[in-house]
Amino acid sequence: MKKVVKFGGSSLANAEQFRKAGEIIRGEESRRYVVPSAPGKRYDGDIKVTDLLYRCYAAAEEGEDFDNQLKAIKERFYEIIRGLNLTLSLEEDFGEIRKRFAALDGREYAASRGEYLNGKIMAAYLGYTFVDAAEVIRFDENGIVDMDNTDRLMEEKFAGLETAVLPGFYGADESGRIRTFSRGGSDVTGSLLARAICADMYENWTDVSGFLVADPRIVDNPVPIETITYRELRELSYMGATVLHEESIFPVRKRGIPINIRNTNHPEDPGTLIVESTCKKPKYVITGIAGKKGFCSINIEKSMMNSEIGFGRRVLQVFEDQNISFEHIPSGIDTMTVYVHQSEFEDKEQQVIAGIHRLVQPDVVEMESDLALIAVVGRGMKSTRGTAGRLFSALAHANVNIKMIDQGSSELNIIIGVENRDFEAAVKAVYDIFVMTRI
Ligand code: ASP
Repeated sequence: MKKVVKFGGSSLANAEQFRKAGEIIRGEESRRYVVPSAPGKRYDGDIKVTDLLYRCYAAAEEGEDFDNQLKAIKERFYEIIRGLNLTLSLEEDFGEIRKRFAALDGREYAASRGEYLNGKIMAAYLGYTFVDAAEVIRFDENGIVDMDNTDRLMEEKFAGLETAVLPGFYGADESGRIRTFSRGGSDVTGSLLARAICADMYENWTDVSGFLVADPRIVDNPVPIETITYRELRELSYMGATVLHEESIFPVRKRGIPINIRNTNHPEDPGTLIVESTCKKPKYVITGIAGKKGFCSINIEKSMMNSEIGFGRRVLQVFEDQNISFEHIPSGIDTMTVYVHQSEFEDKEQQVIAGIHRLVQPDVVEMESDLALIAVVGRGMKSTRGTAGRLFSALAHANVNIKMIDQGSSELNIIIGVENRDFEAAVKAVYDIFVMTRI
């Protein structure tokens, strides 16, 4: 059995957190490949090392003296080294970093050093081999991971390694230039490694015990999600549930490798298991609820719309021409509504209206703003009668007026549109009916 274990920034913010991670890794022989993030926040209001590196590099770009900033970064690492009683010197590394900052060797190079150095400390602490991600993660010239080459390089490198530490967040392009993923990208590194070595499991250790059924800022103490499928997770994260970097799903999903989200501060919690498919019956009819405020609907009316072939295409053409992506398009006999993000739409509203008038000559175009969309997601809905009935009566009892309903053909989710001001009440009502009063 082999597992890839990735630790997030808050799990490695100081020596105490490092010790917790070390205990977890040594607790199971299968935890052989470790992917660390850069040190995160040690306390509320602290600054992540990655952010310090970005700032320090910006100072170098401005031609300012950045030595003090670099010294503060160095101290963050030495604080960990001392706390772990290691005899490890980073002087040579910092000499090189200073030189490359002064030569303005790239913002991505700068940001990547947090993971690089934390990886070195982790390798020394565990007695594992350190592998520089620049050697095995290949980016193409557009900054996108070259999956085939990465797979091959990793397979070759790791085949001979019983145990290893691979820093997260970065790789290099063909010419050796360091490239990074977007923020939170160490999750992606873990996923790529798990895929390349065909790991049995990808454990992602963070500071929460997995996904929760609903947002804890809206619902008090929501229950955790024990098992979720990749498809369900896609639906939820699209609507704002963020624990895992979006791009970290695809590499492992293709190989059927499960991801287990775990809490470094509560290793006894089972966390959330993300799987391709499962015959385990979910505990509740719904797996999760997520949503976002700030949508706008554009309602287009035209008599005999239903017999006008190409009407929908022309309406969507207008949005495409303005580079606005749409979220939903519920339609009726003589009406069609397009839901878009208010922030993307506001500045282009008049161009869109003019475009619609020009391309489809509608009878009426009306707009409504300050709407919220809520996704109620669950693989259990397919086989349960009355889910929609319960959902809508719960919302009616909570005095929430439903503006839009959309059930995907997969029967995996029901999307409801409500006014922004009803958003919290709606989420609570859905949670209560499916989780608190579970039948
Ligand atoms: N250190 C990087 C960041 O802060 C990447 C990561 O932690 O996953 O975004």
